[in-house]
Amino acid sequence: MPNCRLFLKQSIGVPAVPVPGLAVGSKVKKGTLLAAQGAGLGIPLHASVSGTVASITENYIELLADEKQSDDFEPIPKSEDIAEMVKAAGLCGMGGAGFPTYVKLQTKLDGGVIIINSAECEPLLKHNIKQITEDPKKAYRGLLLAMQATKAGRGILAIKSKNAEAIKAFRSVLQNGDNVTIHELPDMYPMGEERAIIREALGTLLGVDQLPAVAGAVILNLETICRIAEAVDNRRPVISKNVTVVGKLKNGRESHVFMDVPIGTQLTSLIDACGGIDGMFGEVIIGGPFTGVAAAPDSVVGKTTGGIIVTQDIPQEKRPLGLLVCACGGNEKRLRDLAEKMGAQVVSVRKCKQAQEVKGALKCENPGNCPGQAEKILEMKKEGAQALLISNCSDCSNTVMGVAPKLKPKMAVHHMTDHVMRTVGHPLIRHLPINAGQ
Ligand code: SF4
Repeated sequence: MPNCRLFLKQSIGVPAVPVPGLAVGSKVKKGTLLAAQGAGLGIPLHASVSGTVASITENYIELLADEKQSDDFEPIPKSEDIAEMVKAAGLCGMGGAGFPTYVKLQTKLDGGVIIINSAECEPLLKHNIKQITEDPKKAYRGLLLAMQATKAGRGILAIKSKNAEAIKAFRSVLQNGDNVTIHELPDMYPMGEERAIIREALGTLLGVDQLPAVAGAVILNLETICRIAEAVDNRRPVISKNVTVVGKLKNGRESHVFMDVPIGTQLTSLIDACGGIDGMFGEVIIGGPFTGVAAAPDSVVGKTTGGIIVTQDIPQEKRPLGLLVCACGGNEKRLRDLAEKMGAQVVSVRKCKQAQEVKGALKCENPGNCPGQAEKILEMKKEGAQALLISNCSDCSNTVMGVAPKLKPKMAVHHMTDHVMRTVGHPLIRHLPINAGQ
């Protein structure tokens, strides 16, 4: 087994701090506490493999894994307090947000609702749906524990209607009297955005700076919910992550799901497990097609890693380019990165008019519900843009297509996900069929 590189910062908040006595050469078991929670919001870090500490730096601890790995692990301390066990396990939002989960479980909902976010909103990612289909009992157990910790009166599974098998599996484990229901979502991006889920499931549209607690809700990603059950019932620390690998791979371009990949595993190991990259490629993306970023060659799996995507070449564009930035898709930095790889000169940048800045990040006023993009497109045209690169949601991409190609001269439209979608033969994010989504 190759080295595992475990970054001290795996979540929102401060990095974990290596425990006293840990040194290069120390022997560790799977689950050994490597680094304690830092002073403030954060989570601890545990060894994802048994082995020897190979290096300790300011940013990470590297383990040389033993040749033979057992399924056994060092358990976290037992406690009657669910949030305490989740805290000790080092759990954060595994859907990508990385917010420490114990803090969410300390919310007092007093009759409110826990919602499992199983939207798995990013196209091509499949590990959440696989997990709930194959192990609905664990998801249900995690939900009941989260309800108990927060004193929530009910629970909801939010999942897209298209995942009929997963819905059937979850329905089969529901118990009378637990007050758990299923809310089906349309197949659009970004249905997994927290405020979109609350709007769809509870009928409340929160403000851009309001947290789900305002609607009496806590939202937890599907894998996070399952890890709550593992932390409490099995005393298992968070040492692995479910990941989807997809793209230009020798073993096929469909999505390959890997369950329980040790945290710190190199991306290249998972790509090799899919037969390796199939010839020339454009990018390796870490994350989903909308919110992922180009990975560095030595990138590793962290607690928030969901996808690894190998793309074909990035299309070239010689016309002056305008960037239209969505709050829920790629940000301006990512679009500029892609524009450079396209060989294009950026002459204009606009954000969607529903994208508001909150604490340095963009938040959408009404995710996935387009206000119309004509004004922004015309402004960019005036500034010299002859083609567009957009990161918009399904609905807004649809409205862009209702304007840009109809102008004289017409403006070409690139969506940031195009090279990903073309790689796997998925329809491009452009027109939104009525009742069908992407
Ligand atoms: S309405 Fe605008 S900001 Fe909101 S999701 Fe759609 S493109 Fe993004």
